[in-house]
Amino acid sequence: MSERNLEQLFIKRSQQKKKTSPLNYKERLFVLSDDKISYYDYDPEKGKKKSLKGSIELEKIKCVETVIPEDNSPPERQFPFQIIYDEGPLYVFSKSDDIRKLWIRKIRHVVRFNKDLMHKYHPRFWEDGIWRCCQQAVKQAMGCRVLETRNGGFANRSERHRKSQKPLPPTPEEEKPSRPLPPQPPPQPQQQGPCPGSTVIAEYSYPPMAPTDLELRKDEEYTILEMSDANWWKARDKYGKEGYIPANYVTEATNGLEKFEWYCKNMNRSQAEHLMRTENKDGGFLVRDSSKAGKYTVSVFSKAGGETVGMCKHYNICTTSQGQFYLAQSHNFSSIPDLINYHQHNSAGLVSRLKHFVSNRADSAPSPFGLGYGVWEIDPTHLTFIKELGCGQFGVVKYGKWQGQHDVAIKMIKEGSMSELDFIEEAKVMMKLRHQNLVQLYGVCTTQRPIYIVTEFLSNGCLLTYLRETLKGPTPIHLLEMCKDVTEGMAYLESQQFIHRDLAARNCLVAANGDIKVTDFGLSRYVLDDEYTSSAGTKFPVRWSPPEVLLYCKFSSKSDIWAYGVLMWEIYTLGKMPYERLNNSEIVDKVSTGLRLYRPQLANERVYSIMSTCWREKAEERPTFEELASNVQDLLYEMQ
Ligand code: ADP
Ligand code: MG
Repeated sequence: MSERNLEQLFIKRSQQKKKTSPLNYKERLFVLSDDKISYYDYDPEKGKKKSLKGSIELEKIKCVETVIPEDNSPPERQFPFQIIYDEGPLYVFSKSDDIRKLWIRKIRHVVRFNKDLMHKYHPRFWEDGIWRCCQQAVKQAMGCRVLETRNGGFANRSERHRKSQKPLPPTPEEEKPSRPLPPQPPPQPQQQGPCPGSTVIAEYSYPPMAPTDLELRKDEEYTILEMSDANWWKARDKYGKEGYIPANYVTEATNGLEKFEWYCKNMNRSQAEHLMRTENKDGGFLVRDSSKAGKYTVSVFSKAGGETVGMCKHYNICTTSQGQFYLAQSHNFSSIPDLINYHQHNSAGLVSRLKHFVSNRADSAPSPFGLGYGVWEIDPTHLTFIKELGCGQFGVVKYGKWQGQHDVAIKMIKEGSMSELDFIEEAKVMMKLRHQNLVQLYGVCTTQRPIYIVTEFLSNGCLLTYLRETLKGPTPIHLLEMCKDVTEGMAYLESQQFIHRDLAARNCLVAANGDIKVTDFGLSRYVLDDEYTSSAGTKFPVRWSPPEVLLYCKFSSKSDIWAYGVLMWEIYTLGKMPYERLNNSEIVDKVSTGLRLYRPQLANERVYSIMSTCWREKAEERPTFEELASNVQDLLYEMQ
């Protein structure tokens, strides 16, 4: 598949190919294409690239890493990275950490099969004939630091990929623990997210659910003490009280916008549209992080001209070279809140004045990762049943409340439908699976019959019904975002070596804000029903199964990938039945001899090529979920 170009203005440091050549820093337009990185002179007046100044062939790249900024570096040189190739390092300075991460990730991805990838690198600059990290005076000297794998797991990704292609012999450095490291700070000056000692702000109130929990009050500050469980952090409030809090209820104050109700930090374009359309108010607006790293977007809903449907518009907040913000030229402001304040009173070129902020924050706290820290056996008397949601393989599923206030879904397991003891053992493992795109298992009630499985409740119900009945005129971005949600949940399961075995639109649910979450992972192993478990059974998911499952019952993350391709097809056909005209035994015959699903009308060639990679005959040639997530993300990035 051909990678599309990526372009960015960076500052490039001169390469000091001769010891005596002076150091200088120039702005260059960098272009990442299929086979090289080129940099050009740039005319800021005309916004055009001028002459080509140089290029690096991608196949010669050995390493891409961050660099520790120089001491007293000016603001525009805070985010350096290095591209190491046979002529040594090329130093590039990005405007923001996010853009730097994006480029590092992209370049690492395209060079991941290169022959001479390095295992060690220099975390500081080569300057005036010396490596600033280890003081070695030979430019070719081997790196003094083992490559970091922390940077968003990107190095991990290529590492894992390489393993599946051809294992590299371990280098002597890797066999020994790499102890004698130079006494520099780690090469990632900007860690993502809070760490112990950080101050966070509660985005929602959290009434303690278990005795070891700490109460959160909205907009108050807390200090993080311990993060050994990724989802329940130990924290201290301003009165000195300590306890566990759900990590998804707090946010690190990074840009000062967190306290404004109109700021919806982690919201994407389609969620914003969904929210504004639901509110259906002319002039509804919010501010969100743009898909372009480090930038912000104002989303506005307008019913101008008396339209009943209304339209959504998205405006990027631009910055002038003096660091001022504007939406409409000639109205510049020194801060984003000032800019919003102005446009609350003046439309000044926008479809509407910003009349009402729309927020997903006010009362809809996210589901915590469980019903209190460490709780998994739930007291059934704490549950109240409100209404029946549907009936599945294991019996009735109900919507209810836990302790009268928390929404939950309760699966009441019909006796004889599940191998219960095995499931109860496994439930402890499943409780630890936590991801925003997986339906959270909260706990089980096992002291009575029928047993209950208590999970997070998703108010928009099953994805298949949602595709068929609710979704009207979806945009291409919305469809792809749904796919992305699933790839992320599944990439997490894959990283935990957990196989779903029954991935399909019927096993995904839709949250109130439109997010998609995967459910029922691994449950099929506990079904007591031959029609469901045997591949010849009428309930077996034949339409979602690859040849190796149909022929030899060989389940793996790669059979989940096949099913994901079919799920993507369900999304793009708005819930059609795969191979509609064929019965199960015809499908087994035809799929094992090469038949594949056709391209849905709503899917363009690139989307279809992503789903088609999931249906490669040989399981090992199918992508991983992590790669799918990154392909889908790249495509989304280009569409926005
Ligand atoms: P089973 O796994 O036993 O076959 P399902 O998961 O298919 O049962 O559940 C039956 C129906 O109940 C689903 O189609 C969906 O509409 C509803 N449902 C199940 N779990 C939830 C949930 N967590 N939140 C909201 N609705 C749910
Ligand atoms: Mg189900």
